Amino acid sequence: MRIVIIGAGIGGLSAGILLKKYGHDVTVYEQVEKILPVGAAISVWSNGVKCLNYMGLQTQVEKLGGIMDRMAYVDGLNNEIMTQFGLQSLIDEVGQRPYPVSRAELQNMLMDEFGREDIHLGVRLIGIEDHGDSITAELSNGTKVEADLLIGADGTHSYAREYILGKKVERRYAGYVNWNGLVEIDESIAPADQWTTFVGEGKRVSLMPIAGNRFYFFFDVPLPVGLGNDKAEYKTLLKEYFAGWCEPVQKLIDQIDPQRTNRVEIHDIEPFYEWYKGRCVILGDAAHSTTPDIGQGGCQALEDAIYLTRSLQINTNSLADALQRYQDMRSPRANELVLRARKRCDVTHMKDEAETTAWYEELRHEDGERIMKGIISNIIGNPLD
Ligand SMILES: Cc1cc2nc3c(=O)[nH]c(=O)nc-3n(C[C@H](O)[C@H](O)[C@H](O)COP(=O)(O)OP(=O)(O)OC[C@H]3O[C@@H](n4cnc5c(N)ncnc54)[C@H](O)[C@@H]3O)c2cc1C
Repeated sequence: MRIVIIGAGIGGLSAGILLKKYGHDVTVYEQVEKILPVGAAISVWSNGVKCLNYMGLQTQVEKLGGIMDRMAYVDGLNNEIMTQFGLQSLIDEVGQRPYPVSRAELQNMLMDEFGREDIHLGVRLIGIEDHGDSITAELSNGTKVEADLLIGADGTHSYAREYILGKKVERRYAGYVNWNGLVEIDESIAPADQWTTFVGEGKRVSLMPIAGNRFYFFFDVPLPVGLGNDKAEYKTLLKEYFAGWCEPVQKLIDQIDPQRTNRVEIHDIEPFYEWYKGRCVILGDAAHSTTPDIGQGGCQALEDAIYLTRSLQINTNSLADALQRYQDMRSPRANELVLRARKRCDVTHMKDEAETTAWYEELRHEDGERIMKGIISNIIGNPLD
């Protein structure tokens, strides 16, 4: 088939890699000239890593991944460890280690694997016309490209989603702002092999190791939407939001480079079930935009890529049948995870003070089993279990 993919993010490139392996003629169109992912890094949980392994990228992803052997929650105000435990039993149960990785490095790996010559940067999808036996993508460079299938991997502001649903979808502000970036590992802030999360006041400061002796860090603060975004103010603001917090958190704020720090107002989209119309189908954030609170958005985009491409490969009744099977297999799981992340988001960010305080208390009595059970339940159910 001639396949046009809109969007060179995790979802689009992963689908592209697999579709090429299955012998399709695939071209990717990406609106930006230079891809600058919204986050500095991403935790690819075991289900996402399995998808990358399936795509033949196991050696490459292993090189990019940080070794995260332990997990700890720490009281952000007094630096007391609330709970600390090893992740080996989780790894053993799901059969794969998770890998926090730099986004830019993940992106480059996927672009290299897909083939940069088939990615057209600086070209935006502006129109879709379905003719029944083919589909045309109208592009911002004035060209029209005809294909057998158009895959909208065009992210949370998806044009293809609007085309499929016949309406614009409002994103829902989740109530907090996230600052993220990379710093060199400093063990006076957190152990190098641990995912460390400082919590308190509905806020969160987290550090995960990635390859190259770096920590991926992020700060979450519940705030109104639409405040200013001036990099010159990041450090002052973070000092203000985390005033009175423990020394490692202060040290981390001192060490960040604001010019290389991202600020994101976190949103999600109410789950919906129509993921295709005619010869147009969506995947990734276009189909299910989630808050990052269980670290599954990118992993779900990877799962979509596996399911969609396999469905196209193994179901030969008709294109509609293959797309319907993809939609029916994938939407319940991805949508459920959007709602799970939303719930986690509300507890973490103190939507209800009593609930969050109770969670902090639970953490003080946690031996890791309950937390790992939660993470495992997000991982299980992937197409490669
Ligand atoms: C702060 C933060 C932390 C996160 N942490 C994690 C994590 O730890 N683990 C995890 O699994 N997920 C995480 N996520 C979620 C993850 O980043 C997304 O789910 C993932 O990037 C979605 O990939 P995608 O390919 O669907 O979309 P995107 O990565 O958004 O790619 C879509 C691409 O389409 C392009 N595009 C859009 N419209 C058009 C158009 N009209 N024409 C041409 N091109 C277009 C865009 O420019 C973009 O490059 C996090 C998200 C955030 C915001």
